[in-house]
Amino acid sequence: MYRNFKIVPNIIFGRGCFNQLGEILETKRGNQNAPIIFVLDDVFKGKTLEQRLPLKGNDMILHVNVDDEPKTSYIDALVEQIKQTYAVIPDGIIGVGGGATMDIAKAVSLMLTNPGSAADYQGWDLINNPAVYHVAVPTLSGTGAEISRTTVLTGPEKKLGINSDYTLYDQILLDPELIADVPKEQWFYTGMDCYIHDVESLEGTYINEFSKAYGEKSIELCRQVFLEDHPEKDDKLMMASYFGGMSIAYSQVGACHALSYGLSFVLGTHHGIGCCITFDYLEDIYPEGVREFRQMMAKHGITLPRNLTADLSEEELNTMATVALGLTPLWENCLGKDWEQKMTRERVLELYRRM
Ligand code: NAD
Ligand code: ZN
Repeated sequence: MYRNFKIVPNIIFGRGCFNQLGEILETKRGNQNAPIIFVLDDVFKGKTLEQRLPLKGNDMILHVNVDDEPKTSYIDALVEQIKQTYAVIPDGIIGVGGGATMDIAKAVSLMLTNPGSAADYQGWDLINNPAVYHVAVPTLSGTGAEISRTTVLTGPEKKLGINSDYTLYDQILLDPELIADVPKEQWFYTGMDCYIHDVESLEGTYINEFSKAYGEKSIELCRQVFLEDHPEKDDKLMMASYFGGMSIAYSQVGACHALSYGLSFVLGTHHGIGCCITFDYLEDIYPEGVREFRQMMAKHGITLPRNLTADLSEEELNTMATVALGLTPLWENCLGKDWEQKMTRERVLELYRRM
């Protein structure tokens, strides 16, 4: 059975296209005075980008903090805040920020039209009602959250996305000018998330010509960005992120993502840096990819934290391993159907002990 996969229907790309956001939203404004909510990463509080948001009438800027990766309780609180402020459902939710903010905006748009807590919908295709119209404006590139059908959330019991066709954005606005000022380390970690998506997709057993077409272009763009310092690097990274996301959408990620989820669950390690830490230990699985990744690190003077697991108890290490080993499709993509013979709990624990 082949998956019939939905993609983002409207995309605008180009330097300065952020100026067209107001025009795009105009067509979505109803006549009952419903607001548009701008979910803005609070790193932009008081900055020019905030002043450039095309606010009208009783629109609201919802500043969000992403020091911790998004939790279901945070989504529930934001939705409650919107419901308390307005008697009507908003005409649109616009996420402006990195992967975390884009995920928050996705989840808020879903939870405004679906009852209960965001935690009730962590899983696959549990959402019943279409979301409020939602738009992504990335200010940091690499995760592919702008085009994925999931919003990754940490709930009381699990870290798992709300995966559904309704999660997908209705519109994305890709303006490379918006990622110009990202601090170097963050730029690197999130960019490497994209590079690792490409390696895991291209080297996986689920690979097919569709995913390969996107993955090969994305990895080529990553090389131009991280090895060649291409003058158009912001434009290129923005497209690499999109293409990397398209590649994994029809294949899967692999060992690095599986292990990074375990790390993140126990230590709260953020996604981009967590993937970098993990990838550095996977030369047996992705020899070429890890070699090139180290070249990129050296070029940009990046050093990764070490000895993260030194003080963990056996129980905590085992929890990490359980989370990682639970991600069957990732391992199957990486190592094939007989992955359980190749990636035993002992091997996972040994990898974690080295980190
Ligand atoms: P992020 O959104 O967590 O942001 C990282 C830091 O960069 C934050 O401090 C943020 O304030 C700052 N920042 C963002 N844009 C900036 C800018 N232009 N200038 C200066 N600072 C800026 O980082 P990320 O790596 O983009 O996203 C990671 C998140 O994305 C995680 O929560 C992860 O779970 C999620 N994710 C989602 C998907 C998906 O498909 N939905 C895929 C991968 C990762
Ligand atoms: Zn990733």
